[in-house]
Amino acid sequence: MASNFSIPGSLGNDNNIIGGKRCGALSGDTFDVVSPVTGEVLAKVPECSKEDVDKAVETAKQAWYDYKLSPVFKRAALVRRIAERVLENKMEIAEVLSMEQGKSLKHESLPEVEETAKNFVLAAEDIVRMETPIIPMEDHNKRVLTFREGVGVMAVITPWNFPTVIPSEYLGPGLAAGNTIIIKPASFTPLSMILVGDCITQALKDLGFSPGVFSLITGPGSTVGEYLVSHPDVDMIGFTGETVTGERICSKAGIKKTLMELGGNGPQIVCDDANLEEAAKAAAFGCFYNSGQVCCATERILVDKKVHDRFVRLLLKEAGEWKLNHPLEGEDYCMGPLNNESTLKKTEEHLSDAVKKGAAILIGGKKEEGRPTNLYFPATVIDGVTRDMLLNTDETFGPVAPVITFETDEEAVEIANETRYGLQMAVFTSSIKKAFFYADRLRTGNLVVNDTTDYWEAHEPFGGGGGTKSGYGRLGGRFTLEDVTSFKTVAIDIEKTL
Ligand code: NAD
Repeated sequence: MASNFSIPGSLGNDNNIIGGKRCGALSGDTFDVVSPVTGEVLAKVPECSKEDVDKAVETAKQAWYDYKLSPVFKRAALVRRIAERVLENKMEIAEVLSMEQGKSLKHESLPEVEETAKNFVLAAEDIVRMETPIIPMEDHNKRVLTFREGVGVMAVITPWNFPTVIPSEYLGPGLAAGNTIIIKPASFTPLSMILVGDCITQALKDLGFSPGVFSLITGPGSTVGEYLVSHPDVDMIGFTGETVTGERICSKAGIKKTLMELGGNGPQIVCDDANLEEAAKAAAFGCFYNSGQVCCATERILVDKKVHDRFVRLLLKEAGEWKLNHPLEGEDYCMGPLNNESTLKKTEEHLSDAVKKGAAILIGGKKEEGRPTNLYFPATVIDGVTRDMLLNTDETFGPVAPVITFETDEEAVEIANETRYGLQMAVFTSSIKKAFFYADRLRTGNLVVNDTTDYWEAHEPFGGGGGTKSGYGRLGGRFTLEDVTSFKTVAIDIEKTL
């Protein structure tokens, strides 16, 4: 472990937050959070069961009515205060995030915590400008107003690749809009979110809100998560994670409102008229940032055959810049370890499938030996990838740059669209006409022209494309407010009022 890191004393065993208090599981059970960086146990967290979920849901239900009726500007002040609290503690949160997730402190964790705070600020700004229409009616005595209001008790279930920013995408708008929220963070990376949870508890206290507005419970998705989403007193679910998990949650949720942010398999398409230096730099970033563990990572690089050789040379040069390192050390951009064994296994399986079918690894390809854990996997470039390979058909989620060639733009569209995912794609071209050729045809929720698939800004509406399995609803900015509120119409007969 880096000599200057020690786990904050506040992360003891009692890491659930219910009704403003830290507590353990009612059973007393715990599980270990192990650092992918060092292999050491960072902390123990409660292994909750149904009884803990019942307690959190009852607390959130009790708090909801008053919270929903609270003034909107006061809720805006609350989420702004949360942002301040997060920023006051950002270094401590970011260090824990790096140690439990594996990402670079300077280049990834600190920016993630800052973006976490920003999501609360954006929610504060957006909620006070959420206007709704007045509807003209045939009956002249009627005036019809519309409102958006908090749905009720909201369950938020999140993955391990962005342990604080993804929760904040739900918590900011969800709290600002008047929902009470229970979050279950991913079991690999709950600790940084627990520290953010403390900031939320403190902000609720600062503003004089009930502590029951926010709860956090930890435990396995298959038991705690599943019981939470099925609970009759949970009114809406915000979920980010794998497509199969999202499908399972929807089957359990019944008619509850859901917001689903699921897997991606974003290609970066490199056309023959692209700036190849820029395209190679962007592709390397898209493949290796957070060791490829990003929903909008560049999972595939589709390159026009005419520029293939030049592009691959440039890509290899860029890939060589991405070195493995301890995430708390190093000034330069670096990659930390993968977060967990199943991600390592999937990465190895996809590479071995591709090699068996004829693809060639140009650099990387094998985990590095002699590191503190098994999880340090280098930047890998693999050429000659074809449409039948797992690297093309499935999300890999590792630091791999698979190069696939195409001969026509129509073929590139076909390859891009043929997997079930459609989250974020990128196209490099110097032609506006070509950019729109792709924009009109790619089945994706988001398209980036001339930048990496990993480009986003916090307030941008982000989510899956229609007809794909990357989810629905939008995270980012004011659009999320529509997904975390329900619509209410009030018709008034003004003739019958005093
Ligand atoms: P995952 O689906 O395995 O787990 C996500 C969360 O769901 C975890 O908290 C887990 O405990 C919980 N869970 C698991 N089974 C559950 C069940 N039956 N009921 C309720 N909850 C359950 O995903 P992961 O491996 O943590 O994350 C990686 C995936 O997330 C990738 O597919 C990635 O593309 C996706 N992702 C999507 C976005 C997006 O914005 N679309 C962003 C980040 C990650």
